[in-house]
Amino acid sequence: MKPLTEQEIRAAFVNCTKGETKRLSVPRDLAEQPWEDLDYLGWRDPQAPDRAYLVVELDGRPKALALRSAATGSGQSRRSMCTMCLTTHSGGVSLMVAPKAGKAGQQGNSVGAYICSDLACSLYVRGKRDAGIGARLPETISLEEKIRRTVTNLAAFIAKVTS
Ligand SMILES: [Zn+2]
Repeated sequence: MKPLTEQEIRAAFVNCTKGETKRLSVPRDLAEQPWEDLDYLGWRDPQAPDRAYLVVELDGRPKALALRSAATGSGQSRRSMCTMCLTTHSGGVSLMVAPKAGKAGQQGNSVGAYICSDLACSLYVRGKRDAGIGARLPETISLEEKIRRTVTNLAAFIAKVTS
């Protein structure tokens, strides 16, 4: 994806109030992110690891989500599959819950999905990060198709948050 600035990321949040958007933690090392290998940028708040965020470019516009999840490695040791990139990890997938956008979110409605706890789907898809033996099902589709599938899954998740 195309590198984004802090300002662009803050402006892209679809399920936060303006105040939250201003205060939330955006990585300081944006310049060092491996943008060309990323389909989306995901991170956790170092001060509050149960807060996770991601930003993806859809139809040329960045869209960002605020998520809540259990901190990494919290008890869940059974193998589960990330619903975005379809990588299977032992204990490396978290249920991430996004408050819905607008009024529905203020009323407490949310949407959840199982996502790689480190939000590094792009790197698993490209084989740049290893999730262990049997992490990825043998597939005959190309890397481009896997990337497209990850982005499609993410777009569907964002659509549920904003619907
Ligand atoms: Zn994943």
